[in-house]
Formats: sequence, structure tokens, C-alpha cells
Amino acid sequence: MSGDQECDLLFTGATVFDGTGAAPVMQDVAIAEGRIIAVGSGLTLTAAETRDARGLALAPGFIDVHTHDDLAVFRRSTILPKLSQGVTTVVTGNCGISLAPSPLVIRDVPVPPLDLIATADDYRYASFGAFLDAMRAAGPAVNVVPLVGHTALRARVMEALDGPASADEIAAMRRDLAEALDQGAAGLSTGLAYPPAKGSTTGEIVTLATDVAAAGKLWTTHMRDERSGVVSAVAETIDIARRSGARTLISHHKCCGQAAFGLSRTTLAMIEEARAEMPLDIDVYPYTASSTVLIEAYVRDSRKVTISWSDPHPEMAGRDLAEVAAEWGVDVNEAVGRLKPGGAIYHQMDDGDLERILTWPPSLIGSDGLPRDKRPHPRLWASFPLVLGHFARDRGLLSQAQAVAKMTGQTAKVLGLADRGRIAEGCAADVVLFDPAEIRAVADYDTPDAPSAGVTAVYVNGQLAYAPDAPDGAGAGQVL
Ligand SMILES: [Zn+2]
Repeated sequence: MSGDQECDLLFTGATVFDGTGAAPVMQDVAIAEGRIIAVGSGLTLTAAETRDARGLALAPGFIDVHTHDDLAVFRRSTILPKLSQGVTTVVTGNCGISLAPSPLVIRDVPVPPLDLIATADDYRYASFGAFLDAMRAAGPAVNVVPLVGHTALRARVMEALDGPASADEIAAMRRDLAEALDQGAAGLSTGLAYPPAKGSTTGEIVTLATDVAAAGKLWTTHMRDERSGVVSAVAETIDIARRSGARTLISHHKCCGQAAFGLSRTTLAMIEEARAEMPLDIDVYPYTASSTVLIEAYVRDSRKVTISWSDPHPEMAGRDLAEVAAEWGVDVNEAVGRLKPGGAIYHQMDDGDLERILTWPPSLIGSDGLPRDKRPHPRLWASFPLVLGHFARDRGLLSQAQAVAKMTGQTAKVLGLADRGRIAEGCAADVVLFDPAEIRAVADYDTPDAPSAGVTAVYVNGQLAYAPDAPDGAGAGQVL
């Protein structure tokens, strides 16, 4: 392309990772009005701004396919953990937990795990549409793909959450689900491992997922069991996917507790086989510790447990649970009881499973970060650079191009985002510039909230949204 065509921004000499997994190529990339208008070498467009990108990787902005950022997207300060990693799109409302429609219809406080993302005061949107209107008005710094949570829907209509829903309750959930999907929800998430959803039958989920399929949308699931029963949980998920016809995404696939170590060989083989006949995908975060609300069973299965937040004992955030129990002169279960409501980081997975899932070609990268935690799991700030730096560059378990594809092009395909996740003419100009030799996670379990190294600039819809030395950026995100 040459001549007198104009553009807003021209990157020259960038090492372009196009999001497909192909090896990077040195190219120029031109952006106008929020879109990529040209990709090639030696572009001669007239540019309002030219940025010399020699030595830097230019990739599609990362899509964090698994987040709990429903509330975090409202403020730049709380979405900074994602922006500073190169993330330009977040999928919210995962694990059955969504900020809307408000679950506080027949009770005053959010039942765990709904308290992971917000307090009662924040659960104020009567409808999904009202939530999205507020988000648009706030001008999010990143794009948002919002899911509606099954547990939120259950909590709206069920007095007792520990059993199956009645026919009337299912009918009420279907009405709320239909309204949310109609008002812009990208799909439904379930969190079947958690107490308020564990009692739901497979049939309840098939019914709701069938509605999701009819709307052409996505079902994501934190499966019923990610421990020694993970194989039967995958079988249930495949069964629901088959019977409902819904596009299905297994959330943060993992095998927790020693009895589950190695089971990813079986689960990935099952998923691989099912993929031949249905759209079924998985995402994964790159750590062997999980993090969620305090639950006794998870504590029993863990090598080490760190408290991430506690309402009655905020001073204990960051402390080792066993040490706190010893200090109090009580057993660990008693300590958990005193600390609840609260959250924890559970070291309970095996490196072999993590590496197998992470390097399985179809898997997508999601952070599962918990932005409200006082002492968060480092996945909140560092998941994407950890994959690109540690796992890809330093250990060579996959190429950086493959890693980028797992964060961009593959993800966009699963989400049905036709014009995101690739560096190609006509795509939205969500772009990250990073130094492929320097990108690395800085946040770790000891210092959980540090921005990553090597991310140079992040553009959302063509607007500069983040640079390490710039205090502010545009709120150019869209609800997708
Ligand atoms: Zn989850």
C-alpha cells in the first residue's frame, strides 16, 4: 500500500505476532479511526503519528477470557492489573458470579462466592441492561464481554440454595436469563463446584444451556468437581454440551489435590475426542495455586494456604493459615471458621498437569484474577507475561507465537469476536507492544500487585490506554 492514504498511527518495523500462531514477521501496521487499515512492509501512508517499533513485538491486545472484573472495569485503577499486562478485552461474569442482575432480591447480602467480586452495596443493578448502561457511561478502559452468572440467577429466585431448583424456579431463571441475553449478555456462566449451585441437577443446566444455544451464545463452566472427581465432571460437561448444543468453555481447567494429580491426561483426551463433534474449549491460568473463598475441603487438599482476605480479620490477609491457627491455638478448621467470610490461595496442583493443560494447543489463557482481594493471587497482575516470559521464552514449553494465539486469535474465535484477536486489515485496533526478550511477570506470591516488565504500550480501539510512564490513558473500551 502506498500513496497519499492517511492514518492516525503508523507503527514501523514491528515484529508482528498476528494472533494466528504463525511465526512473527517484521512489518508496519497502520491504524485509522480505531481500526487496523494496513499491514505490510514499507507502508508509506501519511500518518498523524509514527511510532518506531523496531525491536518490539506488536500483537493483538490480549483477551482475558476468564475474569471476575465485573466491578473492576468501572475504574481505571482497578483494571490496571489487566491493562498493564497488555490485556485489552476481559470476559466478565464467570463461575456463576455476575454483578447483574442483582442477586439481592430475596436476601440482603451476597452469598459466597458472590461476595468474591462485590459487596451488597455494589450489587445494585436490577437488570443486565442497567449494568451495561452504567458500564458504557463509565467509559471502561478495556473492552468487555459480559456473561450472566447462574448462581446470581439462582440467588434471585431460590430461598434455599443447597438443593435442586423447582420447575417454577427454573422458569423464573429462564425469564431472567432470556432478558439478560436479550440485553447484551454474551452467554451464561455456571459455578457448579460452589455450594449455592452444587445442588442444581444436570437437567437444570441443560435447560438453561439450551436457551443459551438458541440465542447463539456461550456457556462457560467452573465444573462441579476439579478434584478427584474431575473426570466425571468433564463427562457431565460434555453431556450438557451435547444435549444443549451450546458452545461450551470449561473454565480454568485444573486437577486439584494429590488424588487428582495426572488426571489431565484423561480429561484432555476426553475433551479432544468430544471436540470432533461439538464446539468445546478450555481455558487455564498459569499457576499451581488456585484462589477462591475459604472452604474447608480445599484447605485439607492443599500443601499450603495463604489468606487473601477476611472480613472479620482483615489483618490476616497475606498470612499463612497454619501459622494463624497455631498462633490462635486452634485447629485449622476452627481458624477457617473464624476467618470467614474470606478468601485464600491454595497451593494444590501439580506442575505436570499445569504444563500439560497450558501447552495443549487449543487451551486459552485466562487470569481468573480476583481484583477485590486484599492480598490477591499474583495471577491477577501477571498471568499473561508469565506465559510469554517464563513458560514460552525461558522454558521453551511453547513458542511466543503460540502463546500469543492462546491469548488472542484462538480466544476471539471461541468468543465469536470476528474482528478482534488478530493483526489484520479491518480488525479493531486493539494492540499491545512488548519487548519479547524482556517481558516477564514481576508480581509473585510475596509481591502480588506489581505491574509486569516489558509491556511498552497498550492500545484499545486505536487509543493509547496504557504505557508504564504515562499516568493515564483513554477509556476507549466497548461492550462487545
Ligand atoms: Zn471459577
